[in-house]
Amino acid sequence: MSTKDYLEKDYYKVLGVSKTASQDEIKQSYRKLARENHPDANTGDPKAEERFKEISEAYNVLSDEKRRKEYDEARSLFGSSYRPGGGTGAGGFDLGDLFGQGAPTGGGGGGERLSDLFGGLFGGRGRTTTQPRRGADIETETRLTFGEAASGVTRSFQLSSDAACPTCRGTGAKAGTAPRVCPKCSGTGHENRNLGGFSLSEPCSECKGRGLVVDDPCPTCSGSGRGKSTRTIQARIPAGVSDGQRIRLKGKGAPGEHGGPAGDLYVVVHVQPHPVFGKSGDNLTITVPVTFPEAVLGADVRVPTLNGLPVTVKIPPGTPNGRTFRVRGKGTARRDGTAGDMLVTVEVAVPAHLSDDAREALEKFRAATADQDPRSGLETRAKGM
Ligand SMILES: [Zn+2]
Ligand SMILES: [Zn+2]
Repeated sequence: MSTKDYLEKDYYKVLGVSKTASQDEIKQSYRKLARENHPDANTGDPKAEERFKEISEAYNVLSDEKRRKEYDEARSLFGSSYRPGGGTGAGGFDLGDLFGQGAPTGGGGGGERLSDLFGGLFGGRGRTTTQPRRGADIETETRLTFGEAASGVTRSFQLSSDAACPTCRGTGAKAGTAPRVCPKCSGTGHENRNLGGFSLSEPCSECKGRGLVVDDPCPTCSGSGRGKSTRTIQARIPAGVSDGQRIRLKGKGAPGEHGGPAGDLYVVVHVQPHPVFGKSGDNLTITVPVTFPEAVLGADVRVPTLNGLPVTVKIPPGTPNGRTFRVRGKGTARRDGTAGDMLVTVEVAVPAHLSDDAREALEKFRAATADQDPRSGLETRAKGM
């Protein structure tokens, strides 16, 4: 069954039913007509056999909801402009060419062939476009606060993809009108330019390779037939993503065709840095200033957490600058749902200004520790082994 068949034959008329007939009506009418025109009951009448074939063909299409829909769409789209016998184009043309079979592909940058635009709208003869096709992968990006990245967040994404213009359904023609076959290229979308010894096939200059020209352009798409379909999807960004990471959200990409699976959505995340917290793998990091006496004598230090109450970290006596303590379960969430740890690094704060009392105390401390030289042996070790 070709598109041309679809346009030339009025299957509703053949079966004597209305365009809105139910499946039951179609079936009843078919049975009655098939009985009346069956070749066995009309031996010697070649016209009955022809009619019987027509009835069967009509029933095959109209009794299959999917094919019936394609048929209706093909006719509503081109029925008004198509005249059997090639009356429209220079020298006539075959609609089959227009819709893909044997059509030249890759018509160049100047617009797209109608067949590309419509994909599987027309069933056609074993076209690959009716087979399930996976939707395209889509890539987008999003900004997250540090806390959102740590705990995970649901984001909505506005995804737009190329689609046939919804107003004219991709024909590019104003409502009530239909595109005309390009007279220059007879609908092939190509023209040959002669360059001395050889000729070059180029997209047709008249129709920009589309094979069709539009007299009254659709106001929505200015005649291009192209539109954008925008949809909003909700997707969960998992907990624990890092800045610059590209995460894959399975099945959130472009919808598949003909029952194929949807593509995937890839989201590149940008995470705002936090003024206090950082990340190291699954662990949250924080640097906590301590005083020299706290480091030397030991102290209980209150440390903030990302999403909760502060915790108390015990700094033991004699803690060197830069030592890191691990607070279990206070980090960011891991993939498996457990929480990472918080790594607390102490940094001894050196006061820029001292009161007289403090200076006096420190001088006393220096005198009391004069026998301790933290650099003893440094020069010897520097000379090498
Ligand atoms: Zn053309
Ligand atoms: Zn349009």
